[in-house]
Amino acid sequence: MNAELIAVGTEMLLGQIVNTNAAYLARTLAHLGIGSRYQQVVGDNQERLDGAISVAEQRSDTIILMGGLGPTPDDLTKQTLAAHLGRELVTDAAHHEKLVEMARRKQQPLTPNNLVQAMLPAGATPLTNHNGLAVGAFMAANNHHYILLPGPPREFKMMVDKELVPLLAGQQHETLASETMHFFGLGESALVTEIGDIIAEQGNPTVAPYIGNYEVELRLTARAVDADQAQALIKPMRSNILRRIGQYYYGSGDESLAAHVVAALAAAHATITAAESLTAGAFQAALGDVPGASKVLNGGFVTYAPGAKEQLVNVPGSVIDQHGVVSAATAKAMATGAQHALGADVGVGLTGVAGPEQLEGHPAGTVWIGLAVGTQVSATEFHFQGSRNDVRGRAVKTALLMVLQ
Ligand code: ATP
Ligand code: MG
Repeated sequence: MNAELIAVGTEMLLGQIVNTNAAYLARTLAHLGIGSRYQQVVGDNQERLDGAISVAEQRSDTIILMGGLGPTPDDLTKQTLAAHLGRELVTDAAHHEKLVEMARRKQQPLTPNNLVQAMLPAGATPLTNHNGLAVGAFMAANNHHYILLPGPPREFKMMVDKELVPLLAGQQHETLASETMHFFGLGESALVTEIGDIIAEQGNPTVAPYIGNYEVELRLTARAVDADQAQALIKPMRSNILRRIGQYYYGSGDESLAAHVVAALAAAHATITAAESLTAGAFQAALGDVPGASKVLNGGFVTYAPGAKEQLVNVPGSVIDQHGVVSAATAKAMATGAQHALGADVGVGLTGVAGPEQLEGHPAGTVWIGLAVGTQVSATEFHFQGSRNDVRGRAVKTALLMVLQ
């Protein structure tokens, strides 16, 4: 099976938005072992879209149209495909009901153009839109498969993951299993050095690295006749990767680093607090983003100025005078001070130079992270690269990782 993606939207031709949907889908198809031979971008124009479909039919067997399923007059993908195939548009009852319900809730009238969102070419299988109103479609005709997907990325991704992937895997009589492994503290070039050969020699399972937000993700996807066999294929590759870069690994799944920390603390029935200087609350905010954080996060302190470190978490003035705020002693005193002030099991102290200016003679990026666990207190020095935001972001993630370990 090979696929051709056609993104519909004049915004893309004008450079106003980037075709991220195509990138997402192409990656997903690659995991399924479906080759993408061509991609097209077409404006919101019926004649040119019709032409694009005709071109795709000559060279690809699965044609995937993305965008233009909405209610506005420039949304004409579905109408164009139906006309192209000489089919009527018919209403999908379940999606029609969803529109009626939505209109009732919002107390708005249902206009004919709204109702188009529940229509699909006759003979097509509906693909549920879990995040929106426009139904997607999958259909077989003229020895081709045609797929309609909505444009808004939130709707698009959900439909791809929840509706399209199982359907396509089923067409190939296969099951997919995947695992997303998370790594922190390892850059892109180090990744390529350490496991470049695994990435280059991949087959089944596939290994796709995603790099961003100071983290690296590796998504392993295996195809097999059933889930057990797919898992059995993933396992040795996973072990092989952990042998090489296991020291950077912090967990698998869709959870963030902060979510892993919250889960680990909750499992240990431990509470946490922090005194933050350069990160000004970002560490606590990262924990607070996780549902269930209240079980473990006591509260904490933003102690930006030296005076605040003394007043809020009892860092002795003499420590600051003697060692400076960017020091192991201050980081430790912040960690224990916060821990004692709130009676938490774990205290974290973050102090350092976010930049761009240096501080106390330390260059931007110098960060001390103090960690108090019970009566054990330690502090570690880091030298982070990048902008002010990068330094702060890395400090937060590093502190989370230290708590996890
Ligand atoms: P709506 O009901 O919102 O009109 P739609 O299915 O008609 O949905 P479009 O009108 O084509 O989709 O696009 C809606 C928005 O989705 C665009 O303004 C754009 O922000 C985003 N979008 C569309 N296509 C893509 C794409 N290929 N990649 C990334 N974003 C996209
Ligand atoms: Mg639209």
